[in-house]
Amino acid sequence: MEKVCCTAIVLAGGRGKRMGASVAKQYLMLRERPLLYYSLEAFEQSEVIDEIILVAGKGQIAYCREEIVDKYGFQKVTSIVEGGAERYHSVWSALQILAQRDQKSGYVFIHDGARPFVDGQIIQRAYEEVCRSRACVVGMPVKDTIKIADERGCIDMTPKRSLVWQIQTPQVFSADLIVPAYREVIEKEQELLEQGIQITDDAMVVENVCKCQVHLVEGTYENIKITTPEDLKIAEIFVEERLGQ
Ligand code: C5P
Repeated sequence: MEKVCCTAIVLAGGRGKRMGASVAKQYLMLRERPLLYYSLEAFEQSEVIDEIILVAGKGQIAYCREEIVDKYGFQKVTSIVEGGAERYHSVWSALQILAQRDQKSGYVFIHDGARPFVDGQIIQRAYEEVCRSRACVVGMPVKDTIKIADERGCIDMTPKRSLVWQIQTPQVFSADLIVPAYREVIEKEQELLEQGIQITDDAMVVENVCKCQVHLVEGTYENIKITTPEDLKIAEIFVEERLGQ
């Protein structure tokens, strides 16, 4: 069977306010390389992935091209587009490239550029699952007990721990599923906002629009998102381990 085209969308359009640094977190240096380098490298090296669309922050397309894509020779990056105000706007900027091509086949891997420790095995597992089910997200079972709070800050309920997962990226979908789903969400954005629905990941788009089953695939506990300064300290330990002292 012929392999269909796999596109990775790597998101680096956020401002990273919670990091408290003057540079957006995806451009912070980790072992002398920008954080964003590591996830691009994982997709570049993966045999599953054919092309990468990189989503840069506002006014950062030239920086991303010169200081990251050209400097480190990422051959699979076919486009660099500017992101939007929210993560889902940034995803939509990239998906519009696929929409313009009228691409009906293929799979789309949507990944947070702030997760440097995605690896080839995670990408492979997600690929195998999306071929079976058309929609899957990477995550890990939680280690802590999770409580759902009410508006007053009291415990409302305790979900059964064995059924609770923390969701990571990549989140992977058939192109013919995710492009129309995002289009619909963008069109009814105001309605969703009025209902208090905030779209924080891609699975939510599919859950809200298509009611399609989204399958869970194991990532790793190392596939963390770098959000606050303590995450960066942990990332330094992981990167030392990977690259050697
Ligand atoms: O803000 P959060 O940590 O959820 O961001 C997850 C990923 O989405 C990051 O890699 C960030 O750069 C990206 N993002 C984006 N455009 C936005 C907000 C976040 O590309 N407007």
